[in-house]
Amino acid sequence: MALQTSPLSAAQVMGVESSHVVALSNEGEHYLEQSTLNAFLDMQQAAKSDGIDLQICSSFRSFDRQLSIWNRKWAGELPILDKHSRPINTNSLNDHEKIHAIMHWSALPGASRHHWGTDFDVYDKRSVVLSNHKFELIPSEYAQGGPCYKLNKWLEVHATKFGFDRPYEVYTGGVAREPWHYSFSKSAASVIQNFALDSLRVELNKSQILGKQTILELLPSLFNQYTLNLGKA
Ligand SMILES: [Zn+2]
Repeated sequence: MALQTSPLSAAQVMGVESSHVVALSNEGEHYLEQSTLNAFLDMQQAAKSDGIDLQICSSFRSFDRQLSIWNRKWAGELPILDKHSRPINTNSLNDHEKIHAIMHWSALPGASRHHWGTDFDVYDKRSVVLSNHKFELIPSEYAQGGPCYKLNKWLEVHATKFGFDRPYEVYTGGVAREPWHYSFSKSAASVIQNFALDSLRVELNKSQILGKQTILELLPSLFNQYTLNLGKA
């Protein structure tokens, strides 16, 4: 797929279509939009020169993949975790509370920044392998003493030079703090500017999402609080 210079279509932004992303390598494990991919490869090379094995552990995700995660959590097939990563007893929650509990860790289908191809999660692969530690993608792994600490420090100094920022750098009442989540600022800003909440409403309405009625009622504030991480409405 060639470099797309026009804004993404609503279907692309919601991960319903994937024509805006290209494979990072021949293995086809990770997909990003082209300008994000180019900037990532430059940053990865610079990290390598400094002895850091910067790799992606999660990149583009489709609407259907996110929907499957959502519905399994809603139905109790996957645990919903609290802010300390302990499973919540969902019998005590009403639909409104359940939505917020899921969204602390998992995005609403169609409203994940991972649909955009501009956002991805990183780790220091070699350091994780050498640490002989079961990697869980949790903040302590990026803090002092963790296998991704050196990477985290390196990114804090260098990532902005390559055009990246961290939308979930601090917890503001939306998504949990995610030091590993990076976004290609320029491309993401264009997605945000063109985001059509009405298209998302239509897509969710025709989907098989569990909790639909309450989700649709809360949609604008969910988008602000979690996708944009602007804190509670
Ligand atoms: Zn992420």
